[in-house]
Parts: sequence; structure tokens; C-alpha cells
Amino acid sequence: MRFIEQVVIVTGAARGIGAAIATRFATEGASVVIADLDGAGAEAMARRLTPAGGSALAVAANITEAPDRERLVETTIRAFGRIDVLVNNAGIMQRMALQDVTYEVWHRTMQVNLDAAFFCSQAVLSVMRERGKGRIVNISSMSARTGGQASPPHYATSKAGLVGMTKALARTVGEWGVTVNAVTPGIIDTDMIADWPPEWRERWLAEIPLHRFGTADDVAAAVAFLASDDASYITGTTLDVNGGYFMI
Ligand code: NAD
Repeated sequence: MRFIEQVVIVTGAARGIGAAIATRFATEGASVVIADLDGAGAEAMARRLTPAGGSALAVAANITEAPDRERLVETTIRAFGRIDVLVNNAGIMQRMALQDVTYEVWHRTMQVNLDAAFFCSQAVLSVMRERGKGRIVNISSMSARTGGQASPPHYATSKAGLVGMTKALARTVGEWGVTVNAVTPGIIDTDMIADWPPEWRERWLAEIPLHRFGTADDVAAAVAFLASDDASYITGTTLDVNGGYFMI
């Protein structure tokens, strides 16, 4: 129970990796705020979590919209009075051929995966700075390291930007007692990869040294570590959770 009395915001937590992260924090005693575009999904998740440990609150929010981000922070402070951890998890991947990538697709991907993570961080940092402590964990992707095997260039670029932003923020806010780290998941079995053809799945299963896809819980465990006191001297780093698929 590493997060008793702590308050954790997880974006994109209505399903998938975000839901597993929210569950992990709740079972370790945190009060969790589930922020998602899918308001009904966020509500359902909050109801599931409440008996798991600490309390959970759903906030329907589009994290690319400034008023929604402000409301997310205000609602969290009103409900729980503090913010200890922000997990920038919400992300999108629109797979398509290079020549089909429009400016709108490129820009939307950057807005959700990169811009919103920066501005959500900015929104919570004033609260964390006042308390002299905080943790930000960004969910990037193995594609940031490899250029992406199955993920398209706009997605891999946004996730590489997130790794750079993690380092830049870590340098800036270290003196405020805030750490900023990234997790780079490999292939994790969620809705995001549900449409991948079986032949891709078979090839990758053969290539991954641990011969299985990751689970959302594998990622959640890494996030919880980086948000915990055990990681108090770790900042600006990127933690690979990929079954050994990509090694530096
Ligand atoms: P998912 O598509 O299952 O869930 C994403 C969640 O984010 C959804 O609930 C969605 O409603 C929410 N969301 C999307 N846009 C939003 C917005 N503008 N505002 C608020 N919420 C929004 O995805 P997942 O597989 O759980 O992935 C979670 C994160 O992990 C993403 O950042 C993704 O890029 C990253 N990731 C996933 C994999 C994988 O293999 N699944 C691998 C590496 C990285």
C-alpha cells in the first residue's frame, strides 16, 4: 500500500492501460481521478474502483481542450485537496499508409499524444510546486525508440517527442521536488492493437524474447514504481516494458 492518502490523476483511464494503472493505484490506497473523453466509461471505471481501496472520481474531459484540463485540476482539488501523481496516458494511434497521412491526422496525433501531456503537466505543476513534491509519468511507446514496427510515423514521432519532453520537464522541475519519467511499452494487448492481423501477432510473438505480449498490468506496475518513494532519485529516465523486444 504505497499510495495511501495520495491523489493520482490518470488520463485515458476508462479502458486499457490507463484503467490498469488506475486500478493499481486504487488497490495501493490512492484516491484516483479517471479522466477520459469517454465519460460513461470513466464513470463505470470509477464505480469498479471504489470498493478496491481508496476513492475514485470520474471526470469526462477532452485533454486537448484547455477548459477541460482546468476543470480536471479544479475538480480534483475540490474533491481531494491535493495532487501527488499525474499519469499522462491518453493516446491515439490512427494507422494508415504514409501517403494518406493528412495534416489533420498528423496534428491531431500531436495534440493528444504530446501537446496535451505537456499542458496537463503544466496544469498540475503549480499545485505540486506549492507542496514541494510530485510525480509525473508519461506513457510513451517502444516506437519512440525504434521508429515503430507496426505503428505509423506520426504516432512514433509524437511518442519520441514525449520522451524528449520528459527530459526537458525533469530538468526544469527537479528543483521543485517533482520527478518526471516515461514508460515505453512494447506490444500490449489492448483495444489499440485489436485490429492487428494474426500474421503480425504470430511474427512478433516469435521475436519477443519472453514470447508473450505485455499486459496492461505489466505497464501499471512500472508506472507505480516510478511514482513511488522507491524511485525518488530517478528522473528524466525512460523505462522499457517490452518483454525484451527492443534492447539498447
Ligand atoms: P486505448 O485506445 O485502449 O485507450 C486509450 C484511452 O484514451 C481511451 O479510453 C480513450 O477514450 C482515451 N482518450 C483518447 N483521446 C483522449 C482525449 N483527447 N482526452 C481524454 N481521453 C482520451 O489505448 P491503450 O492501448 O490503453 O494505450 C494507452 C497508452 O499507452 C496510449 O498513450 C498508447 O499510445 C500507449 N501505448 C500503447 C501500446 C499498446 O500496445 N497498446 C503500446 C505502447 C504505448
